[in-house]
Amino acid sequence: MTDDHQVRERLNERLAALASRVDAIESDFGQPLDDDFAEQAADREGEEAMDALENAALAEIDQIRAALHRLDAGSYGNCVTCGNAIAPRRLEVQPTASQCIACAGGSTN
Ligand SMILES: [Zn+2]
Repeated sequence: MTDDHQVRERLNERLAALASRVDAIESDFGQPLDDDFAEQAADREGEEAMDALENAALAEIDQIRAALHRLDAGSYGNCVTCGNAIAPRRLEVQPTASQCIACAGGSTN
């Protein structure tokens, strides 16, 4: 890995984007519910969708933090399962990948 700095920048940018998305979702949750029952029901459905979005964002934040830790520890780019180097193309597509393609079972996540 010769471009750790670039990877770190990419991860930090993504982290900032996700953090502001989570902030936006959470400030949306702070809105008082409508008095009208039908609208309340619609609001709740919307909240469930937002909840799923927030959870997805939080999960990705976790993955990015873990990748940053691996960068700090100098183990970034190595499979956490078998220890082999993760293909650069895989890291290009998925910078938070912690497993080589063989260990990840070919899943693109
Ligand atoms: Zn592996």
